Amino acid sequence: MKQVSFSQLMTYVRCPEHWLFHYKLGLKRNPRKVFKHGFALHETFAYHLDQKKKDGKGLSAGEAKEFFADVFLQAMEDYKQELAAARPYLTREYLSKERQISLNNLVDTGMRGIETYYKKLNPFIKPDLVEEAFEFSASKNVKVIGRIDLTDKKGVIYELKTTRRSPNMQDIRSDPQLALYQLGYHSIAGKYPKAISKDYIVLSKNNSKIVRFVVVRPFVDKATVLRNINSIMDAIEHNIFYCMHPAESWLCSKEWCGYYTLHQELKKLGSEKFMAKYTPR
Ligand code: SF4
Repeated sequence: MKQVSFSQLMTYVRCPEHWLFHYKLGLKRNPRKVFKHGFALHETFAYHLDQKKKDGKGLSAGEAKEFFADVFLQAMEDYKQELAAARPYLTREYLSKERQISLNNLVDTGMRGIETYYKKLNPFIKPDLVEEAFEFSASKNVKVIGRIDLTDKKGVIYELKTTRRSPNMQDIRSDPQLALYQLGYHSIAGKYPKAISKDYIVLSKNNSKIVRFVVVRPFVDKATVLRNINSIMDAIEHNIFYCMHPAESWLCSKEWCGYYTLHQELKKLGSEKFMAKYTPR
């Protein structure tokens, strides 16, 4: 039986080309300070929520800030090494953009985000499942594995994200990530969740805020989700890795995508030559 992770599926949904670079060819994306920042925040909230599940309190806001700063500074040591290893492939423009991102600003922004979370969200979240592993079969041949970040004791799934752009009103009923979580939750709890809350901490140096999108009734269409998973597996098997974004999309930009240089090279060489050059021997 083939096994596919939740992260692999979500990578393919967001960008099939990214899947090709990362999972098939094993190419590393360009290191970025903001990736390390996001990682440190994720680790901080995951640790706090796990502790809160155990003792009802978790970290205080001050402890969470310290934890975040430690993880971030440690991650920045990795960043320096990754940057040194990738330097021959990085453009001067890229390096200059990275240099302009101030560590102090990133730390301050992280602190503001943590404060906002503690004021506006923390009192309402009573963790039940935290980073809980799940698995389910998508077909006779495909097993999906993953982890649910957070649920509460009332059966609500929380998806906590940090972002720098205020998100637009979304239809979370059609969010593939949440659709997968519902099946994951069912495989653990034997029932579907009562509600789903997608909570964004919008990071800003002066005015961080929380934006929430909540649905109170689950929206599982299990057959469609399973069909989509199997279609992705078929596409991967047949080497279908198109860039699905509109021309001039901000997603496919030097600033945002850590694979931008490879994306340009793929466009220039074409798929066959690119795969011949980068397929591991
Ligand atoms: S440049 Fe665009 S298509 Fe290419 S990996 Fe990045 S987001 Fe995907």
